[in-house]
Amino acid sequence: MDTIITRFPPSPSGYLHIGGARTALFNWLYAKKTKGKFVLRIEDTDEARSTEESVTAILKSLEWLGIDWDEGPYFQTQRYDIYNEHIEKLVESGHAYNCSCTKEEINAMREDARAKGKNPQYNGRCRNLNLPKSDNTVVRLKTPATGVTLVKDMVKGNTSFQNAEIDDFIIQRSNGVAMYNLAVVVDDLTMNINTVIRGDDHLVNTPKQILIYQALGAELPLFGHVPMVLGADKARLSKRHGAMSVGEYQKMGFLADAMINYLVRLGWSHGDQEFFERKDLIEKFDLEHLGRSASMFDVDKLLALNAKHIQKKSPKELGEHLLFHLKTLGIEAKNDAFTQGVIETLQPRSKTLVEMASAAVFYYRDAIEFDEKAAHKFLTPDTMEMLTKAADAIESLVDYSQENLETIFKTLMEDTGFKFGKIAQPLRVAITGTTVSPGIFEMLLALGQEKTTQRIRRACTFIQDLA
Ligand code: GLU
Repeated sequence: MDTIITRFPPSPSGYLHIGGARTALFNWLYAKKTKGKFVLRIEDTDEARSTEESVTAILKSLEWLGIDWDEGPYFQTQRYDIYNEHIEKLVESGHAYNCSCTKEEINAMREDARAKGKNPQYNGRCRNLNLPKSDNTVVRLKTPATGVTLVKDMVKGNTSFQNAEIDDFIIQRSNGVAMYNLAVVVDDLTMNINTVIRGDDHLVNTPKQILIYQALGAELPLFGHVPMVLGADKARLSKRHGAMSVGEYQKMGFLADAMINYLVRLGWSHGDQEFFERKDLIEKFDLEHLGRSASMFDVDKLLALNAKHIQKKSPKELGEHLLFHLKTLGIEAKNDAFTQGVIETLQPRSKTLVEMASAAVFYYRDAIEFDEKAAHKFLTPDTMEMLTKAADAIESLVDYSQENLETIFKTLMEDTGFKFGKIAQPLRVAITGTTVSPGIFEMLLALGQEKTTQRIRRACTFIQDLA
């Protein structure tokens, strides 16, 4: 088998959205799995809608997802000459022709066809006139008048399109600029793309593209049109269903690996396995299990997967990602032993990195603010003595370990007659400012002996000041 060459050709008129990312992923995975090539091409010929910011946003999101490309990015706007060479060839070989019909004439043709109960299309008037090229001529492809064009599709099966329904469509405008379908085919051909996986919103273009391939005497790539991603209401996924852009999910604290895992499951399956790591996916991905029915985007599922990926990663790996989110909260941290200890305490309880970062803030800010209700309930004069003893005992530990902290707690319980909770809660408020936190011992260990002692003493001062 020849090397598999796939592609992702986004139109840069916005960010990288969920559907686009999924298409990119399928193509990337297939190339990776087969040790093929993945080509990135920017389809920017719609110059009114294409922007450089969009190009940057799309590239950044792909990079974040870890979807890297072997070739490109190519830009269609830099390839007009290549398209025109192919158009000239098509005209020379008699597969395409110059057409001088005006808008009015074409409208009249359409009206006429409609009146006769036929498809309103161009009637082929200039087909055999052999007109020379001029500023007023477009180039049209000669399409067969009868028969069918069959789209063989590895996802959808075969779909046939009546050639009579496809008129001699324009492949080059009068200003000399190639039309979309022509550009796509010439690109795919010259980039040696042999596998095209894309959204089924493009299926309508495929018969036209096949006719261009045939006119150029070229071999067809393998096509796979995947169903669109839907919202929970079964309408095509759009902004009103929530965030659409991959970049938003990055900001919301999703791991790229979780995103990849979630995206692949929007249309591909491997038995009933839900959790996939990247290398696992590269091994298992195939085209046979791309589904025919549309998948629904479900943010709760994505969250659940994100939580699982967070749990699976090592604190060190997570550290890299967490720093970004801590920074947005104004915390400049390092991915060091302290941060990794912090992460260990939060890993089992964080659905997103944003959640993790905000739960981590108290570790980094010594001047924590006490939640009013919590302070009122737990930082009271009758806990003062216990807290002071706790600080003394913790400060004097030679070996700051869970075992020794547990012993301190036991002794405190005996000395004060307090139950465990009456010791743990005031300490928790002293350390974090609130009553919710990771397990008390793991938290004290992660914070470290010195900071723990300082914070308990600070809480004591707070109680004194109140009294
Ligand atoms: N540029 C098209 C898009 O962004 C993709 C075209 C294709 O895959 O052939 O939807």
